Amino acid sequence: MKIGVLLKQVPSSDEQIKIADPSAGIATGDIKWTINPYDEYAVEEALRLKDAKKASSVVVYTVGGKAVEQRIRDALAMGADGAVRLDDPAFEGSDCLGISRILSAALKADDVSLVMAGKQAIDGDNAQVPMMVAELLDWACVGVVSKLEIGDGSLKAWRASGGGVQDVVEANLPAVITADKGLNEPRYASLRGIMMAKRKKILVKGAADLGLDGATVGAGAAHVVEDAWSLPPARPAGRILEGDNAQRVQELVRALHEEAKII
Ligand SMILES: Cc1cc2nc3c(=O)[nH]c(=O)nc-3n(C[C@H](O)[C@H](O)[C@H](O)COP(=O)(O)OP(=O)(O)OC[C@H]3O[C@@H](n4cnc5c(N)ncnc54)[C@H](O)[C@@H]3O)c2cc1C
Repeated sequence: MKIGVLLKQVPSSDEQIKIADPSAGIATGDIKWTINPYDEYAVEEALRLKDAKKASSVVVYTVGGKAVEQRIRDALAMGADGAVRLDDPAFEGSDCLGISRILSAALKADDVSLVMAGKQAIDGDNAQVPMMVAELLDWACVGVVSKLEIGDGSLKAWRASGGGVQDVVEANLPAVITADKGLNEPRYASLRGIMMAKRKKILVKGAADLGLDGATVGAGAAHVVEDAWSLPPARPAGRILEGDNAQRVQELVRALHEEAKII
């Protein structure tokens, strides 16, 4: 069984995001990039399945420009066997549906049986791409998975369904899984892995390679339009309550009730 891992590069979570031009998105000039943390869980789980002889190979798929190759190399250094970078001028400006059309076309062409993805990308936070990929492929999709077992042509997944409740879901393969924190502890790349990653091949595919009509992806096909970007309003300063404990508790309750209107 071949596992495809969807991988997106995102700004590192300790980066200070700046907006230079409200119509152009975040300023990317000196940003440090990283693999989306939830995608690292997806890579790790795929590698564990291969280590357990439940998969024959692990291939990383990403829609992005040449600059994304360093993140792909990071996943190859962890142990992924190969990678496909999907890049074409026709892909520019794709919204979630466009990105999903590109990814699903690539996965279909490669005879992948299980797709592992992050539950969301920590920049856009859309949490849409893996579900759309599953829908386009007409596969089962189980999201926010914190434990996964693969059987013979089937899977069993544990997922948080809110309020402390956990669902246990069974599905047939092929399927798409989205990884939550807690699924595993991603490994660090070994020195040998880093050296070997340099020799692994990254295939680059465009619309024609995928048999994709360029008019169904890219800015022209986007249903979502980003009008303007702005930073969230600055948080008001905190307040230290004065007096003895009884006075502070009284003031805290009053502020929560009358000002914050929480209680
Ligand atoms: C009008 C518009 C124009 C845009 N133009 C561009 C553009 O030109 N270039 C661009 O890069 N983005 C562009 N975007 C953003 C892009 O559509 C989103 O990054 C993408 O849809 C994924 O959304 P998300 O990041 O919130 O992912 P989520 O749906 O939250 O991601 C969940 C998971 O899906 C997988 N995934 C998501 N994106 C990718 C990817 N690119 N490759 C592989 N796996 C992925 C990962 O496993 C990820 O953890 C544009 C968005 C809009 C609305």
